Amino acid sequence: MKLWPYLGALAPLLLCTGPAMAGQDPPVTIDTHVDIPLAYMHQPRFDAGKDTPLLVDLGKMERGGLNAAFFVIYVEQGPLDAKGYAKAVAQARRKYADIHLLVQRYPQRIRLATTPEQVLANRKDGVLSAMIGIENGYSLGHDLKNLDWAFAQGARYIGLTHVGHNDLCTSSMPTAELGDPPLSDAGLSAFGRQVVERANRLGIMVDMSHSSDACVRDVLKLSKAPVIASHSGAHALVNHPRNLPDDLLRAIAAKGGVVQAVAYKGFLKLDPGRELAEKALQAQVAKRVGDKQYDSEKHDFLPAYVDGMRRIDAAFPLPTLDDYVAQIRHMVDVAGIDHVGLASDFDGGGGIDGWRDASQTRNVTEALRKAGFSDADIAKLWGGNLLRVWRAVEQAADAPAR
Ligand SMILES: [Zn+2]
Repeated sequence: MKLWPYLGALAPLLLCTGPAMAGQDPPVTIDTHVDIPLAYMHQPRFDAGKDTPLLVDLGKMERGGLNAAFFVIYVEQGPLDAKGYAKAVAQARRKYADIHLLVQRYPQRIRLATTPEQVLANRKDGVLSAMIGIENGYSLGHDLKNLDWAFAQGARYIGLTHVGHNDLCTSSMPTAELGDPPLSDAGLSAFGRQVVERANRLGIMVDMSHSSDACVRDVLKLSKAPVIASHSGAHALVNHPRNLPDDLLRAIAAKGGVVQAVAYKGFLKLDPGRELAEKALQAQVAKRVGDKQYDSEKHDFLPAYVDGMRRIDAAFPLPTLDDYVAQIRHMVDVAGIDHVGLASDFDGGGGIDGWRDASQTRNVTEALRKAGFSDADIAKLWGGNLLRVWRAVEQAADAPAR
């Protein structure tokens, strides 16, 4: 049978709605939460311009059609004393320098973006954008001047807490080893209030991911600008303390903000067997290299850890894109299509079956399309909403951001 006459008749249809349309990228794709290791850009294996074991490097972003990422200045929560603050400040400074090194070393491939317009201009020029977000306000070292410094370095969101309460506010996950009291009505501290007010004045987005529900409520009352959650899940679907309940999803939306649904296994599917297996592996790998405690920064890229995780993935399958899309759908139903975005938490524990690293980013777009989201919806989810909130935060600031 000759096929070509039939194909010829179909050609006009294929031109309008065929493969070209189905494969089209959204106007801009932004991942709001990507971690970097401490030796980022300093060891050849963490040089993001090369092929690396990192889940996000420039090649993976380019291949996967991921245009822009917020790289995060993460520090682990430690004691609230002079020594702890000094250590956190020093760690953070190193990470700022490392992100700057990335854009200096590969100016033809990636540029720092400190405004929404720069993100769009970079996209137009065919280069990637690196943005900077803070994960854990502990790295301010209890000194408001360090927030001004961070802004000057390019930081455009500040996540107030991580795991464990700090000097800014209470965490969604108190830590017994740090002597944290259990969750109560306590939210923002006096210093935390100053940080939110200063962030508003500078034009830094306040990020509620990791904060306790009480803290989110306090910030929503105090902030003059919309807020974000840079990487969070939906509590109504998965009962995890890091996931946001429906009333807070609605409250963040009512303030004009955006919640970035995260592809993090533990927030998409409860799997106690997997958690136990991961803890056992972490202890085993730490012991093998002579450390008392597991340290993700140090141990996550060791071959023994990578092999062990592969075995765990086979025994306890990761959540899938269907699980991820179900959370996005729920958030959109509750908060509205204008108030949801996307984040991976790659290199910080994120990654699911189908979106294992930045090179698989187009799978997310396809999964959303298959689930019935329109191209306009997908454009909002992939960055349109985040850029709108960022602009609103700039406009509410004292002076236009640079
Ligand atoms: Zn996090």
